Amino acid sequence: MKLWNLLIIGAGPAGLNAAIAAAEHGLDVKVIDEFTKVGGRLLGQLHQEPSGEWWNGIEKADALHQRASHLGVRIECGTSVHDLEQTNFGWKVYTSKGMVETNKLLLATGATEVPQPIPGWTIPGVISIGAAQVMGNVHRVKPGNSCVIIGANVLSIAIANELRLCGIKVKEIIIPPTSELAKDAGNPEKVMESLMRLTHLAPSAILRLAGKLAKFVSPSLATKFYPKSGFKIFDIPIKIKTAAMEIIGDQKVTAVKTVNVKSNGDRIPNSEKTTEVDFVCIAGGLAPLPELAAVSGCSFKYVRELGGHVPIHSEQMKTNVPNLYVAGNITGVESAKVAMAQGRVAGLTIASEIMDNKGDMDTLIDKAMEQVRKVRAEALIQFQPNIPEARDKVYQQFEIDEKIEKPKVSVS
Ligand SMILES: Cc1cc2nc3c(=O)[nH]c(=O)nc-3n(C[C@H](O)[C@H](O)[C@H](O)COP(=O)(O)OP(=O)(O)OC[C@H]3O[C@@H](n4cnc5c(N)ncnc54)[C@H](O)[C@@H]3O)c2cc1C
Repeated sequence: MKLWNLLIIGAGPAGLNAAIAAAEHGLDVKVIDEFTKVGGRLLGQLHQEPSGEWWNGIEKADALHQRASHLGVRIECGTSVHDLEQTNFGWKVYTSKGMVETNKLLLATGATEVPQPIPGWTIPGVISIGAAQVMGNVHRVKPGNSCVIIGANVLSIAIANELRLCGIKVKEIIIPPTSELAKDAGNPEKVMESLMRLTHLAPSAILRLAGKLAKFVSPSLATKFYPKSGFKIFDIPIKIKTAAMEIIGDQKVTAVKTVNVKSNGDRIPNSEKTTEVDFVCIAGGLAPLPELAAVSGCSFKYVRELGGHVPIHSEQMKTNVPNLYVAGNITGVESAKVAMAQGRVAGLTIASEIMDNKGDMDTLIDKAMEQVRKVRAEALIQFQPNIPEARDKVYQQFEIDEKIEKPKVSVS
């Protein structure tokens, strides 16, 4: 059986860029992904940069795929990884198509959507916002003709625009009803706070200016004066003071029943309304997808700003388990550009550890880490505030854990 220098799980932007960086330094690299196509979540992305240039995820994925293939990286799609075993040479990785052996293992499994239960959410025609993105942008299938999106956040606004470009009428973006599970997503003031970071996405100069001015206003005041009819971004009304009460339909979705709410999410009596649609998207936010890291025995930390539980890792993308590395959204939810930059750091770190002659690898790794910080600071889509500070806490935890003497684990 072949022993790979590096096996990467996940052919998204992080995994592909790591493969490229490692292969450029002579490593024998294999990438496994359970999806049928290469590119991960990049495949669904389509948005305009402030420069006016379009970010076309399919083209970006294609370019990364071609570069990796050119360097001899072996990419296997349609294969799921379900277990990992540490060995004296590295790892045995168990997949739906058999076992693979590798010296170094990089987990680049990305993020997952957080479910948001709402009365009526099991009716056919209710889908997650990510599913709508994949149907429209990856498979070129319109999920329907008109929809309401429940959940006002950075992802739902970006994907609402993509659905609009697919020719779908997005009637409105509203919030979920207040509940233990909805947490901040059902509180207009908290939603306002997060949306105030997004006005740079607004296509109109007036709205962008309003966003800049809003920085001098508290979220509670901004919510108080937020019109019930909402503000439009990409011509889609964003109604943070309207909550979904119930999704209606028998065999199929036909409408959403909504109610106007106060700034704290309390319902305003007699303000119920029904909006007719043929599908509904629920946008409950994103969380890192770290199950394989958990199987590996890696330590975790809950970091709200990064989307949930993340494997503890260093800025060089090492975990506290030998020969195990992480990159991309598994380490915290951020944009594809950040994932790509992190992938390069991981690829270089691994190459440096495997190579006999390290040469000037440390300088390259330092430059790559600097690039991650730069891309993060300039990211168009920022899922949460204070990400750099949250990242620092994880790196500090890694350093603390490194100083603690670990019990010896016997490996096969
Ligand atoms: C639904 C959704 C929509 C998003 N939309 C946007 C957007 O519009 N704009 C934006 O900037 N960011 C978006 N993101 C964030 C996105 O995750 C990042 O932009 C970027 O794609 C992260 O790159 P990555 O390489 O870390 O992970 P991904 O791109 O998610 O790639 C991870 C890959 O790992 C594979 N994988 C996972 N587990 C296994 C396993 N056990 N076995 C085999 N393969 C596995 C997956 O199939 C996937 O292809 C979205 C995320 C999600 C979940």
